[in-house]
Amino acid sequence: MDFAHSPRAQDLRQRLAAFMQRYVLPYNPAWHQSVQQGVYPPPFLEDLKALARDEGLWNLFLPNLGADAPGTRLTNLDYAPLAEEMGRVPWAAEVFNCSAPDTGNMELLHRFATPQQRAQWLMPLLQGQTRSAFAMSEPDVASSDPTNLQTTVRRQGDQLVLNGRKWFITGVAHPRCKLLIVMCRNAQEESAGEDIAHHQHSMVLVPLDAPGVQVVRNIAVVHHHAPEGHCEIVLRDVNVSADHLLGDWGAGFAMAQARLGPGRVHHCMRTIGQCELALELATERTLERHAFGKYLSDFSNVQDWIAESRLEIDQARLLVLHVAWALDRDVVAPTQLRAQVAAIKVVAARLQSRVVERAMQAFGAMGLSPDTPLAALWTWGRAMHLMDGPDEVHLRTVARHELARARERLGTSAAYFTTPEQLATPPRIR
Ligand SMILES: Cc1cc2nc3c(=O)[nH]c(=O)nc-3n(C[C@H](O)[C@H](O)[C@H](O)COP(=O)(O)OP(=O)(O)OC[C@H]3O[C@@H](n4cnc5c(N)ncnc54)[C@H](O)[C@@H]3O)c2cc1C
Repeated sequence: MDFAHSPRAQDLRQRLAAFMQRYVLPYNPAWHQSVQQGVYPPPFLEDLKALARDEGLWNLFLPNLGADAPGTRLTNLDYAPLAEEMGRVPWAAEVFNCSAPDTGNMELLHRFATPQQRAQWLMPLLQGQTRSAFAMSEPDVASSDPTNLQTTVRRQGDQLVLNGRKWFITGVAHPRCKLLIVMCRNAQEESAGEDIAHHQHSMVLVPLDAPGVQVVRNIAVVHHHAPEGHCEIVLRDVNVSADHLLGDWGAGFAMAQARLGPGRVHHCMRTIGQCELALELATERTLERHAFGKYLSDFSNVQDWIAESRLEIDQARLLVLHVAWALDRDVVAPTQLRAQVAAIKVVAARLQSRVVERAMQAFGAMGLSPDTPLAALWTWGRAMHLMDGPDEVHLRTVARHELARARERLGTSAAYFTTPEQLATPPRIR
């Protein structure tokens, strides 16, 4: 296993870090002010996007991008340090056209869209002209288990008709959001005979301005109001032509798995960057702040916080790189890869909660204020325990994989016991 980044990735990382210092960070206060004043996206965002694109810092994530589309075609392993760098400023990914949920949606369209769908939906996304959302979760059912989903799609002549309610759909409030990829249950008459729960859902490409699509509200997350939105949406007799079906009828589940793999790992990569930032801020603060005759950094509990955070970040980074490496090489069995992606999603959520929590405590009251990024990072860390599936479901995936392995080798571990029966039958070399 070699996790070294290619010379090209190292060069891109340096250039991206320089771009962040030169352009993104100076605009950070203006970004927050603009959003507070209700101007979103801030007017300078398009200029920053144009600059990033001119510098070749654009679509850094899609390894198999076609030659006709703009992007770097980096491997997942090479993308990791760049995503880490972008993660340090939550809105930065958009500057480089690498935002969630667009990256996952672009992966999905790239793999499953028809040439016509690619031209209509994927190309504008790759060009940074539009944004998109992925609509799976629903208020009325436990959406951890997607077999529960109730939003229906019905085939009616050459039309698809959708009805249902979705919520926490990220990105819908962005003024450039044009596309909803909606996960639907195939209506009853269509799914007759398809009794397998995992073949009863389809994905449909729905223009956000289609008649019948109503954005009900943008839901705050722990009192944090995201300008791009985590929205509740009603779909009421939404009609789109049959060519808006993405992939095969009934293949929604398989496609969702494909979408969530790299997309989940991207979240984790950005988390590592955010945790590095939190640790940097906290360590500097403790070197400067004085209490009870010492610098905070002289207290052993503070040193423990710093050390624990460093250990945990480095462990998590290695896991992320391992998963990225495995995704690139296609050397790991799909079930094992799924378990690895599930594991890193849990590790990253825990990491962000723990590291940012310690950093906030080290900062004292200021850590809870909007003057540092810590409160926003903590909120995002809290959300990470749920979005793209709750920790418990990922742990279940890991446990099932482990138990399947145990079933295969059942009995072989007996050799490690020292029981009276084994003592009674000592081995003989000859
Ligand atoms: C900030 C944010 C952004 C989001 N963005 C999107 C988006 O863009 N698109 C989208 O479709 N959804 C999005 N979501 C929704 C998210 O994917 C769901 O909240 C998540 O899948 C859990 O579904 P649920 O809320 O219905 O929880 P439920 O399914 O009701 O589960 C509640 C709890 O039950 C427990 N539980 C469930 N299953 C198990 C199990 N097998 N074993 C043990 N315990 C279990 C877990 O503790 C879980 O937290 C977002 C959520 C947040 C917070």
